[in-house]
Amino acid sequence: MKKQMLYACSLMVVVAGGANSQDASVPAKPEDTEQWQPVPVTVTPGEKGGAAPSDAIVLFDGRNLDQWVMAGDHSPARWRVEHGEMVVDKAVGNIETKRLFKNYQMHLEYKIPANIAGEGQARGNSGVFLASTGPADQGYEVQILDSFENKTYVNGQAASIYKQSPPLVNASGKPGLWQTYDVVWTAPVFHADGTLETPAYVTVFHNGVLVQNHFSLAGETLYIGKPVYKKYDRAAIKLQSHHDPSAPISFRNIWVRDLN
Ligand code: MG
Repeated sequence: MKKQMLYACSLMVVVAGGANSQDASVPAKPEDTEQWQPVPVTVTPGEKGGAAPSDAIVLFDGRNLDQWVMAGDHSPARWRVEHGEMVVDKAVGNIETKRLFKNYQMHLEYKIPANIAGEGQARGNSGVFLASTGPADQGYEVQILDSFENKTYVNGQAASIYKQSPPLVNASGKPGLWQTYDVVWTAPVFHADGTLETPAYVTVFHNGVLVQNHFSLAGETLYIGKPVYKKYDRAAIKLQSHHDPSAPISFRNIWVRDLN
C-alpha cells in the first residue's frame, strides 16, 4: 500500500513538471518544430566532383592569372600558365588573390611533379595561406608537400596546419596525380584593441578525406617560435613559392564560396 502511494506521488510530480514546460491544453504537433523561413538560396552544384558551384568565385580556371598578383608589390602575377595549369615560379615569389576574404569555402587542386626529387621539407614544398597577412610567408598555412612516402615532422607534412596541427591521417596521392584540398575557413575575430575575440577555425578535406576537423588555430604560422595572432579584417589567399630546390608544383581549378 505504501509503495503504491509513493508511485502515485511521483506520477503527480512528473505531470506537474510537464504542465510547467508547456501548455497542457495545446498538444504538441510536428509543425511546431518546422522552420519555413528564410528559404536557402538555390545553388547549382558543379557537374562533377570539384567543379565550381554556381555561386563560387572562380580564382583559376586554367586560362589566366587575372585574379592573382605578386604578394609583394601587387603587380600582375608572374607564374606560368600552360596546359590549363598554373606552375609555381620559384624565382619570382609568392602570389596572392586580388580579392580579400573573411569566411569562405575553398576548393583547390595541386600536382606534385611525377619526377619529384629531394626529401623531407625539400620535396614539392608549397602551401596555401588561408589568410595572407604579409608578402612573405606571413599568414595561416595549410602545407603542401609530397608526403607520399616522404618522412618529415608530422606538423609539417601535407595537409598539416604548418607547425600547429598534423593531419588526422595521411591521404596523400602519388606524385604526378592531381590532388584536392577542400577547406572551410572561419576567420579569427578581433576586438577593436587588437586582442582576440574568437580564434580561427579550419576544416580540411585532402582528396576527399577529413584531415583537419574544425581545428582551432593558436595564431599565424611561424617557422620559428609559437603561433601568434595579429589583427586583420579581410585578407588575400596566398600560394607559396618555396625556396627548396625540387621541381615546381602546379595548381588548377581553384574556387571560393564567400560565406559572409
Ligand atoms: Mg610550405
